[in-house]
Amino acid sequence: MLDRKVNERIRDFHEVALGFSADEAILEAERCLQCKKPLCVTGCPVGIDIPAFISAIAAGDFSVAATTIKEQNMLPAICGRVCPQETQCEGACVLKNKDTPINIGALERFAADWERERGFSAEQKSREQTGRRVAVVGSGPAGLTAAAELARRGHKVTIFESLHEAGGVLSYGIPAFRLPKEIVKAEIDQVLAMGVDLKVNYLVGRSVSVPELLAFDAVFIATGAGLPGFMGIEGEQMNGVYSANEYLTRVNLMHADQFPVFDTPVKAGSRVVVAGGGNVAMDAARVARRMGARVTLVYRRREEDLPARREEVVHALEEGVEIINCAAPIRLLGDGVVTGVECVTMKMCGLDGSGRPTPEPVADQTFVIDADVFIEAIGQSPNPLLIREVSGLSIGARGNLVVDDDGRTSIGHVFAGGDVATGAATVILAMGAGKTAAAAIDRMFKEQ
Ligand SMILES: Cc1cc2nc3c(=O)[nH]c(=O)nc-3n(C[C@H](O)[C@H](O)[C@H](O)COP(=O)(O)OP(=O)(O)OC[C@H]3O[C@@H](n4cnc5c(N)ncnc54)[C@H](O)[C@@H]3O)c2cc1C
Ligand code: SF4
Repeated sequence: MLDRKVNERIRDFHEVALGFSADEAILEAERCLQCKKPLCVTGCPVGIDIPAFISAIAAGDFSVAATTIKEQNMLPAICGRVCPQETQCEGACVLKNKDTPINIGALERFAADWERERGFSAEQKSREQTGRRVAVVGSGPAGLTAAAELARRGHKVTIFESLHEAGGVLSYGIPAFRLPKEIVKAEIDQVLAMGVDLKVNYLVGRSVSVPELLAFDAVFIATGAGLPGFMGIEGEQMNGVYSANEYLTRVNLMHADQFPVFDTPVKAGSRVVVAGGGNVAMDAARVARRMGARVTLVYRRREEDLPARREEVVHALEEGVEIINCAAPIRLLGDGVVTGVECVTMKMCGLDGSGRPTPEPVADQTFVIDADVFIEAIGQSPNPLLIREVSGLSIGARGNLVVDDDGRTSIGHVFAGGDVATGAATVILAMGAGKTAAAAIDRMFKEQ
């Protein structure tokens, strides 16, 4: 898949990856071996019939390809763009060890875009209505998927979203140059076309009370992991320090890049330092580049340990983000306003529980990077507001909601899934959790 030229794309927020043409998609689809036991499907958390949709593309039947994907995945244009396919379907593709794995993500994106650009064959509201009412809290991928699956089964779903726009991280976190917002909106509109009611600007636990919430026949909590972590280093309270979450929300959701046309400002800075190495850190760094700053990203482990998708790292480097590996910020310098970030060199010692090396600071090996903005992207945890308000919910050590394999919490008719249960994870895992919980809620209704 081709990308836009660096010197063009660095000036705007338009999408970087250009997508396949029809001819390119057919060529790529023709490489698929149509395996009898397709390993790619075992690597897909929502179980898309990957060989079937690829075969439809190879035959030029793009509409059938899109319909096949949507049987299991209501957000295909989104997943085709942001899923970590390299560790999922493509990572499991049998061609990985012989040749290059099939570019399943790009094919999914192609089929979804092809259909959307020609007008969706939107799934309509289910004709058989059960009369059961389900409240979904949060409109990220977990909430949207649960809502679609429940509506498909004839249940009346109301999604409550605290922000003024639906989509969760898809809207406020992932920048438009990776995931255009009109695509997010179009796929959300498909879910709403199934009869799902969306109420934005409703903070459940405040503008919707807990008794009102629990009065629904079932509840699915999908409030995500929007609480940013901070390093707790000296100088963090100074002007010019942001969590990546706040920085990205200001630009992606509140359009701070267009201030004062839009009301929300952001300090763009001329020298930005980002701490972290995941997708969130790469997104913050690449946004900061587009805001005109020179950007340095500091990561405490080695380059090969960077948790961000490889494509994001490559794009960040191409766009001029400097990455310093094996280093960590230890102090922010300045007098009320950040002027520099003091870092220490890290050495790798032993392996931690996840198999990654444990970084340890090297005594006296410190250095300073000049900076007027410092962005922390070192992890997020579940937003505690609603979880604390609902008494009787079992909460795990990381502030996550404890659920069983069906997504059921410690309260019988309350289910949960996505980042609020797993901690910060991925779009497709959140969607998988939404599907699982919806099926369990449906079973519960049938058994009552
Ligand atoms: C910057 C960034 C980049 C990422 N990049 C990728 C990527 O490339 N690929 C990938 O797979 N994953 C990526 N992720 C992770 C992925 O986006 C999340 O795992 C996923 O969005 C989790 O979905 P969710 O539905 O559980 O929660 P969220 O998407 O967080 O949605 C939760 C929603 O609940 C709402 N909410 C919270 N509390 C309340 C309340 N009390 N009342 C009403 N509404 C409430 C929030 O406003 C939010 O809209 C990224 C995350 C971030 C932050
Ligand atoms: S594993 Fe790879 S080659 Fe086999 S069906 Fe899946 S995508 Fe095609």
